[in-house]
Amino acid sequence: MRVLFAASEAAPFFKTGGLGDVAGALPKELVRKGEDVRVVLPLWTKMKEEYKDQLQDVLNFEVYVGYRRQYCGVKTMHLDGVQFYFIDNLFYFDREGLYGYFDDGERFAFYQMAVIEMMERIDFIPDIVHVNDYHTAFIPFLLKEKYRWIGAYKEIKTILTIHNIEFQGIYNKSILWELYGMGSERYDDGTIVWDNMLNMLKAGILYADKVNTVSPSYAGEIQTSEFGSGLDHVLRMESGKLSGILNGIDYDTNNPETDPLIDHHFSKEDFEGKAKDKAAVQELMGLPVRDDVPLIAMVSRLTYQKGFHLVLQEMHSLMQQDVQIVLLGTGYQEFEDGFRYYAERYPDKFAASISFNVKMAQMFYAGADIFLMPSAFEPCGLSQMMSMRYGTIPVVHEIGGLKDSVEPFNPVTGVGTGFGFQEFESFFLRQSVEKALELYKTSHEAWRKIQLLAMEKDFSWGTQSERYLDLYREILA
Ligand code: ADP
Repeated sequence: MRVLFAASEAAPFFKTGGLGDVAGALPKELVRKGEDVRVVLPLWTKMKEEYKDQLQDVLNFEVYVGYRRQYCGVKTMHLDGVQFYFIDNLFYFDREGLYGYFDDGERFAFYQMAVIEMMERIDFIPDIVHVNDYHTAFIPFLLKEKYRWIGAYKEIKTILTIHNIEFQGIYNKSILWELYGMGSERYDDGTIVWDNMLNMLKAGILYADKVNTVSPSYAGEIQTSEFGSGLDHVLRMESGKLSGILNGIDYDTNNPETDPLIDHHFSKEDFEGKAKDKAAVQELMGLPVRDDVPLIAMVSRLTYQKGFHLVLQEMHSLMQQDVQIVLLGTGYQEFEDGFRYYAERYPDKFAASISFNVKMAQMFYAGADIFLMPSAFEPCGLSQMMSMRYGTIPVVHEIGGLKDSVEPFNPVTGVGTGFGFQEFESFFLRQSVEKALELYKTSHEAWRKIQLLAMEKDFSWGTQSERYLDLYREILA
């Protein structure tokens, strides 16, 4: 099976969140299973030198972005058996960050047309093009409307994976001819319009042969007006081709026995390293090094989606407990400032690093006792799975992928892999944290038992990639 996996980021080259993790790990696993899966990415200039040195030129051509001819270089390299293609254009991709520029519409218009026009030129005509989120969601539409005259592309099937329905790629109608050089028929008849604007994700949902999202619960939730971000009616209409597949995590990199980013390794049989990792986090963050105090960690984008307004509401009360909390994240100013305030107010109990730091993230997953993730909605969420893999017990809002991956602790049976609350209110968040703290403090055996259950859970892509293979086979059948 030949698959071209198109995304805007993939670890270890570029990662701003879960999409990067998935695009890095899933293709690798599918290749291990013997499939010819290749990945295409923009060549963001932030790429590390060690990877830049390995890039080889394939070819270059020009892409028409409206009436302008833009240079498009294609470079390639292999990593872990996967062939990666990179679309090179400094004008579009030489920026500080990946997203959030005034010309994102044009940058991703160029990228998506480049991906399609590249396939013929590099002589890789896939059976399936697998696109991800709005940055590549227009590809199924373009293949069927703009490029339908290319005979070689006629049999190509498409899958759209929605990693977060909040981001839809909403633009003015005029980009159809100004950037894509297309007529506006599908806009004028309403097909690709939502709320009087052109909507990339809606186009992807309608034109892809299959649509999936990153957890079974989220697949259900986005069909409701509460979580569908306006596209729920489209998803209900297309529910026959919609499914949910829980993401996995990369077991090569997220492994407490071998992770090169943590100082002390450990396993289910021997937790000594975990205690040392905890001390390392406390030391790094300037907190008193104590093994008896429960250490709660948060690693996240600091946004309303991730529920940080609830955390801030409860900070004073939480700080009255014998507890330590560490936070790693960047995001909205009000949250960054809010957490800075608490770090000054409670220097012995709370410390924050307002940064994006992959090593520190791994240190937190490994060294903490509890991981807090109270997302308002969560398509899948990877951090809670990474925590569990390191024996760190998650406390979560039971929604989306958090609900599908964390089994709430049952005090009667002593079974569970975390703690959860259902109503999205700060009171219930605090109550769940307190339940976790109580178990931690009162029963070492009970705590160890849930740590082991969490570590034994199978969140590997080895297993989850099978579901993607089933989906691919279903499309091609
Ligand atoms: P989302 O994709 O919505 O941001 P996920 O839980 O699916 O959330 O994935 C987040 C990924 O990004 C995880 O790998 C997490 O460790 C990483 N991450 C988030 N914030 C930071 C940060 N400040 N520093 C390092 N890694 C981070």
